[in-house]
Amino acid sequence: MDHFTTENWIDFVNQAVDATQQQLMERHLKQGCKRCTKTVSIWQKVRQSAVSEANYQPPEHAVRIAKATFAGAALAGQGKGSGSRIKVLFDSFLHPVFEGARSTSAGTRQMLYRADPFQIDIQVEPKPGANRIVVTGQLLDLSNPGVIGSDARIILSNMRGQVVHAVTNQFGEFSGEIENSGDLQMTFATTGSQPIVISLRDALGTLPEREQ
Ligand SMILES: [Zn+2]
Repeated sequence: MDHFTTENWIDFVNQAVDATQQQLMERHLKQGCKRCTKTVSIWQKVRQSAVSEANYQPPEHAVRIAKATFAGAALAGQGKGSGSRIKVLFDSFLHPVFEGARSTSAGTRQMLYRADPFQIDIQVEPKPGANRIVVTGQLLDLSNPGVIGSDARIILSNMRGQVVHAVTNQFGEFSGEIENSGDLQMTFATTGSQPIVISLRDALGTLPEREQ
């Protein structure tokens, strides 16, 4: 059986597929594909939570970010019956609390994720004068507050073939920079847990604003 990709299902949930595609996908679900049914249910939950947590934001906008954020989570959650392993606690692009701050901080994006037992603080910003993204942050192990997430491996990918490796220091801090392709994928690999994958489409929010 040919399955649809996670991306396809995200678009499906977001009603961003055309009518023909939608019919094909609905038919596929009706045929009883467990794998795809599960994927759909995960993304429906993600959409709902993204919308309710940001109910003052346009749903499409919220979902677009959630879609990027959770792209890895759905895969990581397979077989565990949960798509909620990675949660966005804060994303300055999703919750632009300080409207003015957003424009003065020259595109810096601040994010806080929870992926039990870890909390990951990430800042993504453009490197001045270069088409590069600088990623800095900190990985904390909440189950063991005395021990910070040191020696975790971090793999940055611009999803265009460039990959940069980094390792957290004794404080759980990491940094790396990579050519800016628009997209960014960050993989956090720690001993004894599944890798945490965070994929951002349009990592610095350079896509045109949603039409009103
Ligand atoms: Zn399927």
